[in-house]
Amino acid sequence: MITVFGSANMDLVAYVERAPDLGETVAGREFRTICGGKGANQAIASARAGGDVRFVGAVGSDGFGTELREVLDRSGVDTRALRTVEGPSGIAHIVVEDGGANSIIVVPGANGKVTEADAERLDGDALLLQLELPMPAVVAAARAFRGLVVLTPAPVVPLPPELLDAVGLLLPNEHEAAAITGLTVPEEALEALLALVPEAVVTLGADGAIYGSRDGSRLRVPGRPVEAIDTTAAGDTFAGAFTVARTEGRTPQEALEFATAAAALSVQRPGASTSMPTREEIEAEAR
Ligand code: ATP
Repeated sequence: MITVFGSANMDLVAYVERAPDLGETVAGREFRTICGGKGANQAIASARAGGDVRFVGAVGSDGFGTELREVLDRSGVDTRALRTVEGPSGIAHIVVEDGGANSIIVVPGANGKVTEADAERLDGDALLLQLELPMPAVVAAARAFRGLVVLTPAPVVPLPPELLDAVGLLLPNEHEAAAITGLTVPEEALEALLALVPEAVVTLGADGAIYGSRDGSRLRVPGRPVEAIDTTAAGDTFAGAFTVARTEGRTPQEALEFATAAAALSVQRPGASTSMPTREEIEAEAR
């Protein structure tokens, strides 16, 4: 079983020709509400990839909270330990300009009310963590968990040593890896990460991913040559699929290939949770 302890946000996305300046009003072209938050994304990605997944966190008592819970349920995620707290759900207010440039305001809402008490008694084979919950809760979860702790270190914030001490596998993209290590060459950053944690994967966008472990193993899987139309949540799709494969006892090489196939499918479709492939799709692609 995989437990995801993380954020759930409603993404409120306005598509405009040009984002407004301060004090200015512009007419938008389209508006969408999309379930997101790195925690919810990783939970849905893991469930669609075939994992037995539980999501722990908090949504608000508003309509967004109801909707977020329904989407997780429909995706096959166990939400019995997902709390509903009085007040608004977390939201991400996103403005996307023609050409794809975006600006984002995140208001944590219910995510900000997740505490160390929520981190007690998390169980399973793997725990998926990101950094959109209050840091004391994330640290408590990592320290208390008895299985493999997988951390996606996003957004970039300073990582407390007591968190890193409890992490089994760190899964940054190349920008996060550079921010953590100060090294912009991914292969060098990977070596520096292995001084902090036993295993690490650095994702490289269209170039795929590299893996290393303290037992000396080093692997590289190239990106799949596909036409990407929307890379939103590609990293979360990768993290979910990689963890599912690992908890099934597959080798790191097999897990990398499974995750790369899953992420390649997700970038060819629009949206976050809506773009995540099923296990059958991933297996057909990975062949
Ligand atoms: P995001 O923030 O968009 O969720 P990320 O920055 O966390 O993603 P990336 O390294 O960009 O993570 O991508 C994760 C994985 O998705 C890559 O390792 C790769 O397998 C796949 N991927 C991303 N972009 C592409 C692409 N253009 N073509 C094929 N595969 C891609």
